[in-house]
Amino acid sequence: MCKDCNKKSVYVTQSGTKFCKSCFIHYIERKVLKTIRIYKLIQKKDNIVIGVSGGKDSLTCLYILNKILKERRQKLTAIFIDEGIKNYSNKNLKYAKEYCKKENVKLEIYYYKNEFKDSLIKLIKKHKNPCTVCGVTRRYLLNKKTRELNATKLATGHNLDDEAQSILMNQFKGNIEFSAKLGPKTGILMHPKFIPRIKPLYFITEKEVALYASLKKFKVSSLKCPYRPISFRSQVRDLLDKLENKYPGTKQSIVKSFLTILPLIKQKFQKEQIKTCKSCGEPANKEICRFCELMKN
Ligand code: SF4
Ligand code: ZN
Repeated sequence: MCKDCNKKSVYVTQSGTKFCKSCFIHYIERKVLKTIRIYKLIQKKDNIVIGVSGGKDSLTCLYILNKILKERRQKLTAIFIDEGIKNYSNKNLKYAKEYCKKENVKLEIYYYKNEFKDSLIKLIKKHKNPCTVCGVTRRYLLNKKTRELNATKLATGHNLDDEAQSILMNQFKGNIEFSAKLGPKTGILMHPKFIPRIKPLYFITEKEVALYASLKKFKVSSLKCPYRPISFRSQVRDLLDKLENKYPGTKQSIVKSFLTILPLIKQKFQKEQIKTCKSCGEPANKEICRFCELMKN
């Protein structure tokens, strides 16, 4: 039974607290608001853009954020990036369009094929790590388009599971400097062309997002990208899911301990200057940004 109202419970938290449907919905929304407040994700003057994919995470994030921003009379715009992946991107776009219409949020759509011609889709197809090409390009385009929309923050639907995966992926690959860019608010260094990213669902698990979206009866895409099974993230996701089943709380512990050392990681890598790509003028870690590097090959 629910701890607050004694109705039938639909969810039990890690610590054993039970919630009925309406108390669970309230619990999730409160948790998001708390993350926004504690980590100062949104300021009054902020103009927020949210990246949506048509899936449960980004659309849940859009719904909660829209609710919060409406109360504060702040603007929210959604961005959809169509990667041109057959039987996937176009179908997801339909969900995003319908949802934004229902929520009365303006949706801006950008296509890889218009921005980069067919070369990028060909590169994704033939590359041994399609997700690297696709992911680097998406981040590049999201940053550029968000800036062109005069936004000050870019929100994403990343949840606790995604963050635990990213932490481990960087650890496994020895890319600790990339971890300095993780956390509820991304970006360690300021660059006039870099739009800080915020993750309002940072402390919400994948399971919780799925339950929230289903209780709210959101129409979301559950399509899986055909390239997903071959990605490194997918292997880390499976590994973490197995560990979580056997040792509940594993994902939360990874994120919690990571946040304890994040200030030290940031401090260490703050010394490195963020550069401007010599080829395209966008923010870069090296002389040439990762996107331009990929495009050269
Ligand atoms: Fe792109 Fe990989 Fe995601 Fe597919 S799974 S949309 S290729 S990043
Ligand atoms: Zn570049």
